[in-house]
Parts: sequence; structure tokens; C-alpha cells
Amino acid sequence: MEMTRKERESEICSLLRPNIRNMVPYSTARDDCKAKMDIYLDANENPYDTGVNRYPSPHQPELKFMLSVLKKVPAENIFLGNGSDEPIDLVFRLFCPPGKSSMVQAVPTYGMYSTAAEINDVRVIDAPLADGFRLDADALLSKVEPDTKVVFLCSPNNPTGNLLDRDAVIRILDSFSGIVVLDEAYIDFSGTASFTEVLDRYPRLIVLQTLSKAWGMAGIRIGLAIADEYVVKVMSRVKYPYNISILDQSRAAELLSDPLQTADRVETIIRERSRLSAALSALPSVEAVYPSDANFLLVKFHDKDNIFSSLIEAGIIVRDRSSAYNCDGCLRITVGTPQENDRLLSVLGAETGDSPDHGCPEGRTAVCSRRTGETSVCVRVNLDRFRKPRVATGLHFFDHMLEQIGYHAGIALDAICFGDLETDDHHSIEDVAIALGDCLLSALGDKSGIGRYGFSLPMDEAEATVLLDLGGRIDFLWDVSFKEMTVGDVSTQMFPHFFKSLTEHLKCNLHIKASGENDHHVIEGVFKAFARALRQAIVRTISTDSGIPSSKGWL
Ligand code: PMP
Repeated sequence: MEMTRKERESEICSLLRPNIRNMVPYSTARDDCKAKMDIYLDANENPYDTGVNRYPSPHQPELKFMLSVLKKVPAENIFLGNGSDEPIDLVFRLFCPPGKSSMVQAVPTYGMYSTAAEINDVRVIDAPLADGFRLDADALLSKVEPDTKVVFLCSPNNPTGNLLDRDAVIRILDSFSGIVVLDEAYIDFSGTASFTEVLDRYPRLIVLQTLSKAWGMAGIRIGLAIADEYVVKVMSRVKYPYNISILDQSRAAELLSDPLQTADRVETIIRERSRLSAALSALPSVEAVYPSDANFLLVKFHDKDNIFSSLIEAGIIVRDRSSAYNCDGCLRITVGTPQENDRLLSVLGAETGDSPDHGCPEGRTAVCSRRTGETSVCVRVNLDRFRKPRVATGLHFFDHMLEQIGYHAGIALDAICFGDLETDDHHSIEDVAIALGDCLLSALGDKSGIGRYGFSLPMDEAEATVLLDLGGRIDFLWDVSFKEMTVGDVSTQMFPHFFKSLTEHLKCNLHIKASGENDHHVIEGVFKAFARALRQAIVRTISTDSGIPSSKGWL
């Protein structure tokens, strides 16, 4: 049975140090006044504008909003720290009485957990990972002592690179009654889902992530703790009030607004990781390259000292991890750019292998970005290459529907929208429809060789029929009714509006009819049927030489 908010808070509260439980937090001038004022004489700031003469927001609402869209978790569940090091330190300060408590960590692992523990006078208990750096839940649990307040896990783990077994992590969450910190600093390189998905079930789970790795912002120091909203509240009470500077907040917001560039770079790093791993494995000087789900490889050399110095001589620095538990002879090598990796391989005398294709992706592609006072939208499609959709609009049900378009049309579809959801869902949905329509139209180019028409099929108990003609004339017919005002977090009246806006911008004929018992099935049927119709209409069914599928000669 799901726990109530009260039960969750009392479980977390019982784990807090008594002084933290009872503290009266420092309240900043800006905490006391939320409304926008004309003149600020409340914080003893210098009134003359230097660009940074005002204190930053202590709660970073803009960044939290963007991260909540991208991470698909409510903003109330996000704490932002000065790098992940800050929430790591806060975990000890919140939950571990100095001199009277211990933490258990699965070693080898990231060194800051034990450093922060020592600073906070918390005893460190090492639980060795099993063969292949596998997490053995029972072996770790056997290390827990009566004063153990926290277990630290890192997945993908640093320095080993591997993901920890999901069931083993769950077993620890189920069996250990204290705080479990799961550090997912490298999760974006792993292609697996975050443990934030199970936060509802485990109020004692704190997931750490960071903008330092996949997001390329190590220089501006922003780390996330994603946890129960009560944990976030207490962390916020204990942190330094202005822990993230104005410059860091604004630069991070700028970089977060282009998540597709980040996703592309992560894809390249993942491809390069495979290439490096294969090339290094073939070297006689290499004893083992450990499997990695992160942006680095742990490599065991026969003579790591020699390798380390020849790399230094060539101007390349890697990390010697040979002193870490079970890492004899190991260097940790971060995946660089393709050119940097080529240099590394050539210094080591390895074959470079085929460099991945960094040029334009093949196929009919387009990108559309729109920025208004209400939304900032970026949509990108490739009509000829399927890739798992990357969709984030802050509206979970709408995300789910857009993903259906990607999957069922068999296209690569990326759609990111930061919109004014505090108003309602209208502008976000409309603007994504506009950008998607523009993008599809632009990717279709002169439309030569396309099927042009699509038609459709039944879905579940609901029937959805979508007739589509990409011929260039605009006509929209909607014959669908819903029983409820909303499906998930989307208002049902926005569905016809979405397809109407899309029709106008894709310049198509779109007739949609659907009926059924369950609104969710009906609209999911419509999106899938639309995607199937689109798939048939965009596909080049005939050779492009046969030209444009119209007796007029243009579409
Ligand atoms: N967690 C792990 C596992 C790391 O390897 C690192 C940095 N190397 C961090 C956290 C720290 O990240 P940040 O830059 O956010 O402090």
C-alpha cells in the first residue's frame, strides 16, 4: 500500500539528527518576500548595477523547472547543490551524528563519500564489490552495523564504470532501514532508466545526479539530489542560503535549453567508448578493459607505470586508480573527442578502428526552434532513421503521446519544450504542434517519391481512423469525443487543438475519427493511428526518380 505524506515524513524525520529535526532555519531576505518589487532595500546589497550586485535566488526555481521537465520529476523533488559534493556532505550533516555513526560504501568507488564521512566524523565501512565489480546485496547488508545510518552506492560506478544490478539495489532498499544514496553521476551514458522512478516507493532513497558529466558543466558546479520532497526541504534548510551563484544559474539555464546538443554529444561519447574499448582490448599491453556504462574505461595494463609515463610524455593525462580496492594495474581513461581518442590510441600503438560518422545524419532531417514569451520549443526529425524518441515537455501524458508518434511512424523524433505550465498546458501543446508541423514539412523537402497518403487501423477497444494526405492542401476534420476533461496531465480539448495546429503547419489534410470507452485508449489510439498514417505517407515508396506523386507535378 502506498504511504501517505505524513507517513513518509515521519519515516524520514525519525532518521534525522535531533539537532536538524529541531532547527529553525536561517531565513533570507528573499525568502521573506516572494512578490516582485520595484525597489529592493532589504538585503544590504549595493544598489548600483554590476550585473551581479543582487543575491541569487536561494531556491533556483528556473533551473529546477527546467530540470523537472528534462528529468521528468516534480520540481519539489529536486535539490540543487554546489556540485554533487554538496548533497554528499549534507547527507552526513542531516542523518549521521558525528562520532556516533557509520556509513557503508560498496568499494571500489568514488572517493568523496569517505572523505566527506571523515570530515563529518562518520566511520567508513567498506563492502567490497564481488567479481566483475558486481553488487552482492547480501554481502553488503552483512556489513551494516547498528550505528550505520547511510549506504552509499554508485551506478554506473566510478572507477569501475559498470551499472549496479537493479535487483540488488532494490534488495538493499528493502532490507536496510536507513538512508540509501544512489549516485547516478554517469547515468546519461548508460541508456538505462534512473532510480528516480522508484522514489514513490522509497522515501529513504536519495538519487544524486550532476550537470558535470553528460551536460558538460563541470566548471559551474551544479549537482542534484532527487529525493522525497521532505528530504529536499530539510537539505534546503541546512545548505548555505545562496549556494549557487547568479552566473552559474544563468549559464546552466542557457545550456539546459539545448538538450538535443547534449544528447548528440552523449551519443558520440558512447560510440567512442565502444571504439576505444575494442581498440584497447586488442593491445598486448592491456590485460583487461572492463565493461563501461559511463564516459570512461577502467583498463588494466601489464605495466601501467610505463604506460602512464609514456602518455604523460605525449601530453596525455589519465587517472591512476591502481591503489583503489581490486584495481591493481588499472588506469581510468576518460573518453575524449574522436581526435583526442585517436591520439591516445596512436601513442599506445593501437589500431584506431573506424571513426564514427560525425557528419550530418543521413536521411530527410529538419530542426525547428521556436521561442516566444510563453514557450521555448525545439523539435527535430529524421524521417528515414528510427531512434528512440527524446521527448520532454513537462506534460507527462503529452510526452507519452509524442513518443507514440516517434515509435509508430518509425522516425527519429526529438521534442523539447519549456513552457508556461504554471498558466496551463495550452501554449506548450500548441507550440510543439506548430514546431512539429514545420519540422515535418521541412524534412519532407520537395516530397519526391513519398507515399503521400496514409490510412489507419483499430486500436484496443477503441477505434481510431486517421486519414492523411500530405498533398499541401489544408483541411482538418475531428470526430472524437471524450468523457472526461483531462487525460493524465493534459486537457482533452487540447488534443484537437494539437492536431489542428499540426495540420496547418504540416500543410496537410487530416481527418480523425475515434470512439471508445476509455479516454486514454481513445487518444492513444489516435496518436498511434496518426503515426501509422504518417509512416505510410512519408515513406519513399517509389523511386525518387519517379518524382512527385501528383499529376500536377508539385505538392
Ligand atoms: N559522483 C561521482 C560518482 C563522480 O565520479 C563525481 C566526479 N568525478 C561526482 C559525483 C562529483 O560531481 P560534481 O562535479 O557534481 O561534484
